[in-house]
Amino acid sequence: MASTGKQTTDEPETAVETARRQLERAAAHLDVDRGTIERLKHPDQVHRVSVPLKRDNGDTDIFTGYRAQHDSVRGPFKGGMRYHPGVTEDECVGLSMWMTWKCAVMDLPFGGAKGGIIVNPKELSNEEKERLTRRFAEELRDFIGPMRDIPAPDMGTDAQAMAWFMDAYSMQEGETQPGVVTGKPPVIGGSYGREESPGRSVAIIAREACEYYDYDLEDTSIAIQGFGSVGANAALSLHEWGANVVAVSDVNGAIYDEDGLDIDAIPTHEEEPEAVTTFDGHEAIPNEKLLELDVDVLIPAAIGNVLTDANAHDVQADIIVEGANGPTTTTADEIFEKRDIHVIPDILANAGGVTVSYFEWLQDINRRQWSLERVNEELESEMLTAWDDVRSEVEERGVTWRDAAYIVGLSRIAAAHTARGLWP
Ligand code: NAD
Repeated sequence: MASTGKQTTDEPETAVETARRQLERAAAHLDVDRGTIERLKHPDQVHRVSVPLKRDNGDTDIFTGYRAQHDSVRGPFKGGMRYHPGVTEDECVGLSMWMTWKCAVMDLPFGGAKGGIIVNPKELSNEEKERLTRRFAEELRDFIGPMRDIPAPDMGTDAQAMAWFMDAYSMQEGETQPGVVTGKPPVIGGSYGREESPGRSVAIIAREACEYYDYDLEDTSIAIQGFGSVGANAALSLHEWGANVVAVSDVNGAIYDEDGLDIDAIPTHEEEPEAVTTFDGHEAIPNEKLLELDVDVLIPAAIGNVLTDANAHDVQADIIVEGANGPTTTTADEIFEKRDIHVIPDILANAGGVTVSYFEWLQDINRRQWSLERVNEELESEMLTAWDDVRSEVEERGVTWRDAAYIVGLSRIAAAHTARGLWP
């Protein structure tokens, strides 16, 4: 759990526990067959593979890789693939379940998957990373494919890794199969706008939330934790649309100016990593202070578990839009509900990433690239539809935004299971 500088008694919940708890909460509102709920508590399959790697020095090391495939009732499995020393089977299973809910909220014809290799990518040379990725693709080849399971970049993997993965798979299949992964470079079937899409969707949802709660975007103050892919892109869009982004941060700390920051001038993580606090002319504050600023909207977009029982009472924002995955603990969520702070959940807010991945897959199987304008227009339209679907549940059932999002997702998955039935 990230340190907020205060004592927390929050028990960190595993991804599987969170996914199962949310499933039960949503099920309590719906008339869903118990058998379907039980089925959804478990992944369809988990593949565990050993990936041998010839090191640059001639040694051979063996790494363990996983691919958890949760539910494919609505279409092929979809989800990220991370290279990180902390990867576990349990984490892959939990995150694959989150992906199922996320795809269903967005009404995408996919189910959830997640995978990865237990490895520190920083300790690999570029050549080693390439060999590891190609061998991982080969080990998983029977279980993945454009109509089966479509990996994407995640922590420690990037567009280049997806290109190697796609190449290795295609070489063995005897034909170019760009649709086997998303997040590729555009020159080999990647989509324009994919990198920016999770941040862009966070901005779209924040804008809609402001409108819903009668905040004029031009007069809205926003604090954003994290200035990486999600945080910086959310900040750039909101700034462009006239919002007053008053604070941003990276791992080294935050900068704050109540009159608003010139977001375009701050180097993003990609341009110059961790350079937010070197940007002169603004008050420097610690990360934990950013979370407690008196702003209209708070966007945690760095890491998980930053809003806990230790700081939830001190948060002064009226609306929280989750840019990161799982930034709010269960206890903090309950405190926010009591305090009437509206929390718009990650599975809706940052789902622009998987949505543009879906666009990429469509472009790949149709062999036709979309312009950036088309990608952004279609993303806007998908996000507004999902927002409306979740809003209807909030209004009709009087539930939180998080429960409403899970209700939307689960009702779609359950209806698909009922329609297809259990075979044999
Ligand atoms: P990133 O690595 O590009 O950026 C992370 C940012 O957070 C950096 O600015 C970093 O300095 C900052 N940071 C790291 N540790 C911090 C700490 N302890 N306190 C404050 N700031 C800290 O990562 P990203 O891709 O922007 O992902 C951010 C979050 O969004 C993660 O939870 C990720 O799972 C989630 N997410 C990412 C995507 C995606 O496609 N990029 C999609 C959906 C969700």
